[in-house]
Amino acid sequence: MATVTPPEQERLLFVVSAPSGTGKTSLCTEVVQQVPHLSFSISHTTRQPRQAEEQGKNYYFVSREEFMHLVSQNKMAEWTEIYGNYYGTSKETIRCECSKGDDLFFDIDERGARQLSEHYANVITILVLPPSLEVLKKRLIERKTEDEQSVRKRLNRAKEELKNMSWYTYVIVNDSLEEAVLHLKSIIFAERCRLGHSIIEGLLHE
Ligand code: ADP
Ligand code: 5GP
Repeated sequence: MATVTPPEQERLLFVVSAPSGTGKTSLCTEVVQQVPHLSFSISHTTRQPRQAEEQGKNYYFVSREEFMHLVSQNKMAEWTEIYGNYYGTSKETIRCECSKGDDLFFDIDERGARQLSEHYANVITILVLPPSLEVLKKRLIERKTEDEQSVRKRLNRAKEELKNMSWYTYVIVNDSLEEAVLHLKSIIFAERCRLGHSIIEGLLHE
């Protein structure tokens, strides 16, 4: 009997993590626009939308009760708590996007990246770093979305987070955004060119 491979096992799952303020959103937005057949995985979160953020585009904004209901029903592929809010990716989001034939792109933290790597076979992990912590602080301040206390909180979390991030496969330093975009695209294209047995088998069975 022929076995059917679930769509999420046939596609590549690119997971990008970075300390808040590094420039991950700028980088990911650019790359998702430029690379064909790459969809952004939209997370669920209980945090409030920021100005210009849209429901179902940047995040699925849900209540804590709704989020915890999904967790209790085992419907989340990964989830975590950051700054008192829940963030997570639903299994449905992954399956639905992969079934369109696209690779998926995740902007999630280290704990989420670890959970996805444990549960899915084809996860590629990429860490984005700022050129220095001084530059990180400057970017957080100049973005003007955080008050002083929140900038301090994010810097402290960055230092803690970085201690656990040496297991990622790839690293990109976001100094010049243009160069970082080029590096990220190169990783994606190189991973897509990896030789899988199914390619040769497919040719032989044409
Ligand atoms: P993150 O998603 O990692 O929190 P953002 O993409 O919001 O970070 O970027 C933080 C700030 O830094 C934004 O104001 C953005 O315009 C700026 N930024 C991003 N990348 C660069 C870069 N390579 N050089 C200078 N500024 C940058
Ligand atoms: P922000 O509130 O700035 O949009 O995101 C804060 C942090 O949450 C970022 O580090 C981002 O990578 C992380 N994040 C966003 N969505 C998810 C998710 O679905 N799962 C996990 N584990 N982290 C997420």
